[in-house]
Amino acid sequence: MSSIYIHIPFCKQACHYCNFHFSTSLKQKDELVEALFKELEMQYDYLGNDLVESIYFGGGTPSLLEAKTIAQFCQVIKEKYNLNQNAEITLEANPDDLTKDYLKALSETPVNRLSIGIQSFVEEDLKYMNRAHNAKEALDCLKDALTYGFENYSIDLIYGTPTMNDEQWCENLETVFELEVPHISCYALTVEPNTALHHFIKNKQTKAVEDEHCARQFEILVAKMDAAGYEQYEISNFCKDNAYSKHNSAYWKGITYLGIGPGAHSFNGESRQWNLAHNPRYIKSIEQGTVPFEIEYLSEADRYNEYIMTALRTKHGVELNRLIQFGYRIHDRFMDEAQVFFERGQMTQNGNQVMLTKSGMFLSDGIISDLFMD
Ligand code: SF4
Repeated sequence: MSSIYIHIPFCKQACHYCNFHFSTSLKQKDELVEALFKELEMQYDYLGNDLVESIYFGGGTPSLLEAKTIAQFCQVIKEKYNLNQNAEITLEANPDDLTKDYLKALSETPVNRLSIGIQSFVEEDLKYMNRAHNAKEALDCLKDALTYGFENYSIDLIYGTPTMNDEQWCENLETVFELEVPHISCYALTVEPNTALHHFIKNKQTKAVEDEHCARQFEILVAKMDAAGYEQYEISNFCKDNAYSKHNSAYWKGITYLGIGPGAHSFNGESRQWNLAHNPRYIKSIEQGTVPFEIEYLSEADRYNEYIMTALRTKHGVELNRLIQFGYRIHDRFMDEAQVFFERGQMTQNGNQVMLTKSGMFLSDGIISDLFMD
């Protein structure tokens, strides 16, 4: 089993909090798309005949590409790779791109899932983050997506912004419940170094992000999602009626994935590699017949830490028989170190699985790093 991720490194405008790899200049868009097609052919050996269960167009803003280009990518993958005919094919899209015409065109491609960057339905909040869409576009695109048959979709929401109080956060969630959104990813606003937000806060040009405010809104999130019947299947991900993201679940299960495009990561259990995050140099290197990447071979400690970090964030938790594959010494060490969290009611065991409890989820970062191996 495997997955393919295609990174589209362009955005209309820069959101103030974002540290992903993208460019707001679309000048090289056509050359870059050509390079992506070429890289897809060059990287065939990374997956070989592995069955591809999901394709994810991420970014950046993949919805800046024409629907016919997305369809061509799917066709090339179908021809060159061993693509499951029922594969989940997700396109990340921004509300301002999801016009009726675009949705109609997309509905005629193999894309069968949308991940929509709503972030908030509060106007002031969207302005604070410098999103390219407004609150009305956020609402309209969700209704239109359904009209064009995209029943399988996810939305992203951000909490913890200083421009959204708890009441407005509750209203955002109520809107989601009224619309019966099947899958929701919710992230705390994080102030990353070298972002516009970091710069503005440092220079006191904008309000700072408070940890307490974020923590309280996470508590509200978990309680309201639970009351509304959503399953928290990963710390930041919620769904109804088993509308799990196959692609993200594959990441959390440590399944092999191939990343195509500048800045994209690939992983095969033994090593992790990442392409050069620079559009012109990436294009040039691909034109010259070389995929520009760096590679890190994972030590036993790296692989264990990676497994603990991803598995403990999910509702399934850590599988003890998988830990035994790292050796009994590591399995026993994990159980010893976890003891204190069992006693505090922050972790629990169900047969072969050890997972965080609800109260443990609030402290997940600290618990997971305490369980890491040096
Ligand atoms: S649209 Fe997404 S990738 Fe682009 S700047 Fe905003 S958050 Fe970053």
